[in-house]
Amino acid sequence: LLGADGRVAPTIFTEMTALATSTGALNLGQGFPDDPGPHEVLDAAREAIAAGRNQYPPLPGIPSLRTAIAAHQARFYGLDIDPDTEIQVTMGATEAMAASLLALVEPGQEVVTIDPFYDAYAAVIALAGGVQVPAPLDLTHGADGHPNGFSLDVAALREAVSDNTRAIIVNTPHNPTGTMLGRADLEQILAVAKEQGAYVITDEVYEHLTFAGPHIPMATLPGAKGTVVSISSAGKTFSVTGWKIGWITAAPELITAIQAVKQFLTFAGGGPFQVGVAAGLGLGGEVFDAVRSSLQDRRDLLVSGLRSAGFDVIVPDAGYFTVADAAPLGFEDGAQLCREMPERIGVAAVPVSAFTSAGGPNAARMRSLVRFAHCKSADSIGQAVDRLQKLH
Ligand code: PMP
Ligand code: GLN
Repeated sequence: LLGADGRVAPTIFTEMTALATSTGALNLGQGFPDDPGPHEVLDAAREAIAAGRNQYPPLPGIPSLRTAIAAHQARFYGLDIDPDTEIQVTMGATEAMAASLLALVEPGQEVVTIDPFYDAYAAVIALAGGVQVPAPLDLTHGADGHPNGFSLDVAALREAVSDNTRAIIVNTPHNPTGTMLGRADLEQILAVAKEQGAYVITDEVYEHLTFAGPHIPMATLPGAKGTVVSISSAGKTFSVTGWKIGWITAAPELITAIQAVKQFLTFAGGGPFQVGVAAGLGLGGEVFDAVRSSLQDRRDLLVSGLRSAGFDVIVPDAGYFTVADAAPLGFEDGAQLCREMPERIGVAAVPVSAFTSAGGPNAARMRSLVRFAHCKSADSIGQAVDRLQKLH
């Protein structure tokens, strides 16, 4: 996990944010929003601090948050979850993933990730002594030959799974591509996992930021119980990425195993933020809709701006990011472009190659793709779009 120089290697997000800061560029790299989040959520945390709720919360999470998570899963997805035995609150989705993998994966066992994948998965699989096996997403093309979407390659997924597969990580809505897996895809993944006796660990942090119909949690499929470990977090839904309040829902025996690990990772944390998130999860549908529709407007602004700048744009169905192909502008190496852009035109972004397995098919197929964050203010996106016109 160390860089070649023996120091902690920064993530691509830290690296591009540092470059944006040192050059004064607009940061469309790291995925954090400019908007402050619903005031009810912020007020509830502020009040909890003022009321002295600043000591260790219980290991599984404060009861009001677990009740709110169970009610949220029932309200949005029709799921019936026991707040006492089937929920573990975590320090973000990141700790949720770490605790789940450390609990369930034995050294030498394989974990399949859909490629491109969020960087933390590879690191935590390595910490667990597991072996990461990529299952590449396909890049689809329209009749004009331009890329227009991503799709799950079920044959590639089957090929990636072996007798030694312990878990499949499924991130939907997906970072970096904004792809939402449909019911048929999820059913096939669950079937493959069950045939093999493997777990499915989901990452659903963008569950509410959807522009193409509702998110489908894997846990809603028949037969999911006991196989699926579901992970989400509040950072994206309520625009509070620094709070790091996440949660895991799973069958009681899986929660118990994960809790045994989580107890010694951090025990518990974020007491007053847990109170804020509990308030947020209980807010009316209009609050969730407002976050989504404001984000969708900014996605549309960025998509049309990238198109006018000459990129081929793959319109995302969800999430914080828009992926665009820089090849039509003559840039075949997205990583090189991302290193140059802050200085040259004052815009930072992240190459999709940072999410692909080195040497895997998508490292080559997705080499010219760049990820731009549309979770920034309309003003920042507008200015970035003006600057991007100078890439011609
Ligand atoms: N999973 C995905 C797919 C993400 O994009 C992110 C960060 N934005 C995380 C997990 C991390 O979530 P958290 O901040 O709740 O740890
Ligand atoms: N998840 C955020 C992104 O994809 C970044 C989180 C981080 O900085 N590690 O941009």
